[in-house]
Amino acid sequence: MVKVVKFGGSSLADAKQFCKVRDIVTSDTNRKYVVASAPGKRDSHDTKVTDLLLLCFRLAKEKRSIDETFAKIENRYRDIIKDLELDFSLDEDLAGIKIAILNHAGSDYIASRGEYLNAKVLANFLGFPFVDAEDGIFFDEKGVLDLERTNRKLAKILSLHEFAVLPGFYGVSPDGTVKTFSRGGSDITGSIVAGAVGADLYENWTDVSGMLMADPRCIKDPKPIPEITYRELRELSYMGATVLHEDAIFPVRKAQIPINIRNTNEPEAPGTMIVHKASSNTVDTVITGIAGKKGITAIHIEKDMMNSELGFGRRVLEVLESHGVSFEHLPSGIDTMSVLVTSDSISECKGSITAEIVKKVDPDSITLVENLSLIAVVGRGMSGTEGIAARIFTALANAHINIRMIDQGSSEMNIIVAVEEKDHQKTLETIYNEFIKD
Ligand code: ASP
Repeated sequence: MVKVVKFGGSSLADAKQFCKVRDIVTSDTNRKYVVASAPGKRDSHDTKVTDLLLLCFRLAKEKRSIDETFAKIENRYRDIIKDLELDFSLDEDLAGIKIAILNHAGSDYIASRGEYLNAKVLANFLGFPFVDAEDGIFFDEKGVLDLERTNRKLAKILSLHEFAVLPGFYGVSPDGTVKTFSRGGSDITGSIVAGAVGADLYENWTDVSGMLMADPRCIKDPKPIPEITYRELRELSYMGATVLHEDAIFPVRKAQIPINIRNTNEPEAPGTMIVHKASSNTVDTVITGIAGKKGITAIHIEKDMMNSELGFGRRVLEVLESHGVSFEHLPSGIDTMSVLVTSDSISECKGSITAEIVKKVDPDSITLVENLSLIAVVGRGMSGTEGIAARIFTALANAHINIRMIDQGSSEMNIIVAVEEKDHQKTLETIYNEFIKD
């Protein structure tokens, strides 16, 4: 059995955390390939090393001194090495990186050094070889991950090592320069490594004991989700529930490798399993999770006989496309069509979008409803269970919440309601209490 384990920045923020990581890795010899993030925050006032590196990049660009900021980075690593009592030094690497920053190296290269250095420390601490992501993770000319080439090369390199530590967050472009994923991208590296070696499990170690059924900022002590399918996760993440980088799913999803979200600070907790297909006996609630996002605007369009007007929908959507606006949802009736978009995406072009829709489809009316919130109720247990929608609507009606719109995905795995932003919190609470409480 092969497990790929990724540790996030807070799991590798200082020597104490490194020791927890060592205990986790060495307690299971199947944990063979370890992906490391850069040192994260030690407390809420701290700064991530990646942010310090990016600050150095900006200071150098503005021709200001990087000495003070770079010293903070050096100290983070020196403290970890000293506290772990390692007979190892990063001085040469650090000096080279400082020169590169002063010589205006690219921001991706500079940002990637946090992972590079931390993986080197962790490799030394665990006694595992260090394998650089630059040697095995490839982007193409357009900056898109070349998954095929990456899989081939990584599989080849890692077949030479029983155990290894790799830095997360970056790979290499065809011109040989380092390229990073977007922020939080070490999750993607872990997933790529798991896919490349055909791992049985990808463990993603962070500082929460898995995914919760609702945002703890909105619901007090929400229950954890023991098991969630990739598709459910996608629905919830799209609505703002974050536990993993969005792009971290596809490399393992393709290979049907489950992801286990675990907590470095509470290693006994089972965390959340993200799976291709749920084991049937684990659904004890019809709902897997609830998530919501504010800042939505609905464009309501009405026109008599709209349904028989060929190309009506296309012409409306083309107007949005020409303004670079993508739509979130599209609930429609026979003679009405509503296009839900994020308010931010149309803030600059509301007027011209409305005017152009009027010109293109000549509607009887067009209205913009702003300050809406979308709440998604997601659960594989919902499909085939009668009365779920009725329970949601009854509960919301009893709580005097006005539902502005309803959208049910054809998979019957999610029901989305639009409510006024002022009802966001109350809607989440009401649905949570209806289905999940006790
Ligand atoms: N260190 C990078 C960041 O802060 C990548 C990561 O931690 O996943 O975004």
